[in-house]
Amino acid sequence: MCDPKEDATKEDTMSLKDIEGKTFNVVIIGSGPAGLTAALYTARADLSPIVFEGPEPGGQLMQTTDVENYPGYPDGVLGPKMMEDFRKQAVRFGADCRYGYVTDIDFNGRPYKLTVDEETTVYARSIIISTGAEAKWLHLESEQRLRGRGVSACATCDGAFFRDEHVVVVGGGDTAMEEALFLTKFARKVTVLHRRLELRASKVMQKRAMENPKIEFIWNTELAEVMGEHAVEGVKIKNNKSNEYTTLEDVTGVFVAIGHRPNTDLFKGVLSMDDVGYIITKGRTTETDLPGIFASGDAMDPIYRQAVTAAGTGCQAAIDAERFLMDEGDEEPMATGELAEDQKAEIS
Ligand code: NAP
Repeated sequence: MCDPKEDATKEDTMSLKDIEGKTFNVVIIGSGPAGLTAALYTARADLSPIVFEGPEPGGQLMQTTDVENYPGYPDGVLGPKMMEDFRKQAVRFGADCRYGYVTDIDFNGRPYKLTVDEETTVYARSIIISTGAEAKWLHLESEQRLRGRGVSACATCDGAFFRDEHVVVVGGGDTAMEEALFLTKFARKVTVLHRRLELRASKVMQKRAMENPKIEFIWNTELAEVMGEHAVEGVKIKNNKSNEYTTLEDVTGVFVAIGHRPNTDLFKGVLSMDDVGYIITKGRTTETDLPGIFASGDAMDPIYRQAVTAAGTGCQAAIDAERFLMDEGDEEPMATGELAEDQKAEIS
């Protein structure tokens, strides 16, 4: 696997001490396709963005092997390699990408005050949220060990690797039905394991899945273990009514589809969100409830959740931020690291 950090410049990896108290035109939170595309666009607009890469630099694609559905890579690309390319391109135009996790934001007035890694303070005239989302997992030891080796949470990403094979999907919601239906394009057989006797999915999705001859349901059943050392070689399942265990020995792929969780805790109670926690943006823009704060990628997209759509909304957020800063008034955007007068006083 490739590590985007291998190409990091010395400046990229330095501590955050040199930016203490500084004000940035654009602070980008998160470094998946949305964040790094926003970085590329705002860097090319001469806004000298800084990217705080978050706890998992590169985002969800760092856990993916081959990506075959991102345009521009006719032979496919490894997820980590693609994120390395995204990062390099943003850095080339002056984006400052740093290890750093934004732990707190003071939303009372602009420039917004952000705390990074619980100790460094920076100020932002605008913020682009691209904190992404994460798939929920069952947290079985065997499931985690075989992630990327037959266990996946994304049929769109990995389904094509299971041509003519038998795969299982865990879950009973719309995501599970959608994943199961998508997998029937490739797999010989798709078995849905659901922990209850009733699906949570919408009627229309239930109907579609039930009518598909390749899909079979096993009810009141939980995944107990994914078998195999280095690849999936079957699954052990448990009927939660009878407590009986059974093995499906010919299964080679496991798709966990029990929902996603957007990484938006930092904005709870401040920005409008749906029930699950996806940030709600205004109309066709990336604007949130607060001026100068824009949301992009999986943190605001419960529907598409693809790398290419995340990159698209990252671009939109960058353009929205640039226009916001331009429209803001007579003041020229501050250069990277320039201190506001009151901040100079504050830290002196
Ligand atoms: P969801 O509706 O919360 O469903 C999650 C499913 O996973 C449920 O069936 C749940 O079982 C099961 N589950 C949760 N934790 C589990 C565990 N630990 N072990 C076993 N099973 C577990 O999530 P979702 O399907 O991702 O959908 C999220 C939202 O997005 C929904 O509003 C959905 O309608 C929407 N969505 C829409 C579309 C579409 O319209 N095309 C596609 C995808 C998602 P229980 O039922 O027993 O709780």
